[in-house]
Order: sequence, then C-alpha cells, then structure tokens
Amino acid sequence: MTVLRVDSLHVHYGTIHAVQGISFSLEEREIVSIVGSNGAGKSTVMWTLAGVAERSGGTVDLFGKPLPSKPHEVVARGLALVPERRRLFSALTVEENLVMGAYRRKKDEGIAEDLERCFRLFPILKQRLKQRSGTLSGGEQQMLAISRALMGSPRILLLDEPSLGLAPIVVDTLMETILQIRDAGMTVLLVEQNATQALEISDRGYILEAGRFIKSGSGPELAGDPEIIRAYLGG
Ligand code: ATP
Repeated sequence: MTVLRVDSLHVHYGTIHAVQGISFSLEEREIVSIVGSNGAGKSTVMWTLAGVAERSGGTVDLFGKPLPSKPHEVVARGLALVPERRRLFSALTVEENLVMGAYRRKKDEGIAEDLERCFRLFPILKQRLKQRSGTLSGGEQQMLAISRALMGSPRILLLDEPSLGLAPIVVDTLMETILQIRDAGMTVLLVEQNATQALEISDRGYILEAGRFIKSGSGPELAGDPEIIRAYLGG
C-alpha cells in the first residue's frame, strides 16, 4: 500500500528554488533514504511533508488524501517528523519531553503503553526519566527525539539527519533501532548527509542534488555505486 505519494514537488524561499519538481512515494513498512550534500534541499522536503514549509507546486497525498496544511493536522493523520538537531526542550526532563509528544491524545489514552514501547526500544531513557534533556549525551538526545515522535503513535516517521554529531558506534545502534521501528510496522523516510549506513538499511534511496533527484535505486545498490561513493559517501 502506498502511504505517501509526492508528485512534482516544488518549494521556493523567495527567489531560491530549493526543491525543483521531485516525485517519489513510500510504500507501507519501507525504509527510504534521501541522500545529498549540504543545501541540496533535504530538510526542505521534510518540512514540506510535515506541513511546516509551504510548497509552490505539486501534490502530496498522505494515505490517499491530500496532505493537510497545518503541522498538527499532519501529526494527527499519522506522520511525525524528528527534526535535524533534535529540537528538544532542553530545560525539561526526559519524561516531560515524552509527554509533550503525546499532546494530541485524549487524557492518558494509550500513553503508558507508548512509554513502555519507547523504553523497550531505548532502555536507557527509563533510567534518565527525571533528568533534564539538555544534560543527555548526543546519542541519548537523539533517542529521546525519536521517542517523542513515537509518542504521537505515527505510522510514518521522518528522520532528518539523525546521525548528525553522533559517534560511529552510536550510529550503528541508531541504524539497528530504525530497523526495529520498521519491524514494528512503521514506514520510515530518512534524510542523511553521511549516507553509507542509511543506504545500507534502506529498501530504496534517492540522491538529491540542487533540488532534484539525479539517481535512485535500491539502498544497498546505491551504497555500493562507485560514482555515488565518490561524490557523496566520502570514498
Ligand atoms: P542541510 O544538510 O544543510 O540541512 P539540506 O539538503 O537539508 O541541507 P535545505 O536546508 O533544505 O538543504 O536547503 C535547501 C536550499 O534552500 C539551500 O539553498 C538553503 O540555503 C535554502 N534555504 C533553506 N531554508 C531557507 C530559508 N528559511 N530561507 C531561505 N532559504 C532557505
């Protein structure tokens, strides 16, 4: 089943044409990566899908219906974004950040189960519950940012550069977790600048350059493509 369909998406910031007519779709339970260098337009695509940035052309369908125009409506329809650099409330505790992620729920409905699900994925967060999130390590903050998004019970999770600033060993764990999230039934769209590992765990990938897709293929195929390695993967 196609859960998200993007057709000829364009986004402008004034005279800057940041996204120039890209098309792609996500099938249920896929992991798809968009890879590209700094300024290629990756975050802009994510913000547009989350209802934060406005598109200047094209259509986006979420579960077969037009994408809502307001961010909270997009979340209510089952799509959650984990933004680049995590954007946590650093003065709040881990627990408070998690509860914020469940804000759209009716009173306590399902929140306890979702908390338990987060602790199964990230046991360390349970030990850190009363700690201010600003005092966590980078890896723990990323776990918290993902957990906060999961507290809204999304069916599609958008991850914008989750590995940014994390040590290689922490990135390995993160990639494992993304696979577990998919195995739990979610669809994942992953954006990465540092892309080998992202492509390796992805069913499909797209290479974004100056607002356009210049190549697509299966994740492992792109991860092993000499031209891609030379241009994007630091090979
Ligand atoms: P990065 O990895 O640095 O986040 P990116 O691939 O995510 O890069 P975007 O952040 O989407 O790229 O930026 C795409 C283009 O749009 C760039 O030329 C950028 O300078 C421009 N841009 C992004 N945000 C704005 C904004 N708020 N106002 C004006 N131009 C912007």
